[in-house]
Amino acid sequence: MAAKRRIAILGSTGSIGTQALDVIRRHRDLFEVQLISAYKSADLLEAQAREFDVNNVVICDEGLYADLNARLADTDSKVFAGAESLCELVRSADVDIVVGAMVGFSGLRPTLAALEAGKVVALANKETLVAAGSLVTKTMREHHAVILPVDSEHSAIFQCLLAAQGNELKKIHLTASGGPFRTWSREKIAAATAAEALKHPNWDMGAKVTIDSATMMNKGFELIEACWLFDVQPDMVNVVVHPESIIHSMVEFEDGAIIAQMGCPDMREPIGFALSFPARLSVGNKKVDFASLGALHFEAPDMERFPNLGLAREAFKRGGNIPCVLNAANEVAVRAYLEGRISFYGITDLLEKCLSGATFAADPSAGEIFATHEETLRRAKELL
Ligand code: MG
Repeated sequence: MAAKRRIAILGSTGSIGTQALDVIRRHRDLFEVQLISAYKSADLLEAQAREFDVNNVVICDEGLYADLNARLADTDSKVFAGAESLCELVRSADVDIVVGAMVGFSGLRPTLAALEAGKVVALANKETLVAAGSLVTKTMREHHAVILPVDSEHSAIFQCLLAAQGNELKKIHLTASGGPFRTWSREKIAAATAAEALKHPNWDMGAKVTIDSATMMNKGFELIEACWLFDVQPDMVNVVVHPESIIHSMVEFEDGAIIAQMGCPDMREPIGFALSFPARLSVGNKKVDFASLGALHFEAPDMERFPNLGLAREAFKRGGNIPCVLNAANEVAVRAYLEGRISFYGITDLLEKCLSGATFAADPSAGEIFATHEETLRRAKELL
């Protein structure tokens, strides 16, 4: 790489954002950080701005702007407030790669802004593709933008497909760790607290995605994400539980040959690959030791104990704005579960109610997507 790649990190204080900065910290000669943003973690945002000498810093919670601006007054960093400023800056010419690491639906607007500007988007925010997959991929194509997947499974599929050499993909084997409740009975899961659900066996992630992983909604979302990213039908995606999380996903070709991508579970690996593609960087992760692993295991997902996976498959098949409804209802349900207001399967109940009462839009515009999201949030809160 000749010139330094100029990076924007949307959601720099979250789990993916901090790990992206860790990769960049190891390779300061390859990258410069042009833009960072956070919703409200002003302390960490200030520290990151100083450490990486960041030009533009956006705090989305406008109430925190004045304080952060004063605190960074002795630096060269320019401070901005609000989601609109973020979209403006993302469009600017001096950014090569936009890392979409915001959590939930809030990532959609800046992701669309980056795609409209023809940027390379390293996308970790799966809710963007779940809620608005058709709109996002259409915007990407129209503006000759590129999405590089950061989600470990989709990075794996992307890497496996580099071996396709023009051959058609027949099947995707999307691996799932099974989450913290993989071996629990339905009764025990029904009584599980948020604290128990937050203990993920393999991956170090944010709270939202960790709960989604416990319900397997995360895998349902990833199924939808895979359909959009790799232009396949849901029937071509086989979800397989693989508790060791060493195989990050696989692709199968006509002759039955399967290519798998493996590594120790560490998000810095797919983040690093997206930032430096097609080059590979050292990212400080542990390496696989097959002899000490001994065996890798696989099992079918239990749709009885993890019904959200089925809801996602069904929502994608219904199409239109229905996955957007699923995503919005899930945001409300997960928050309510984290706050101890509903039970584990209360999440599924709320999703089912929102899905059955939804108004269908076959080919939703951006306006209809935002309206569906708002309307579902309102309905879900009412139903709680
Ligand atoms: Mg994943």
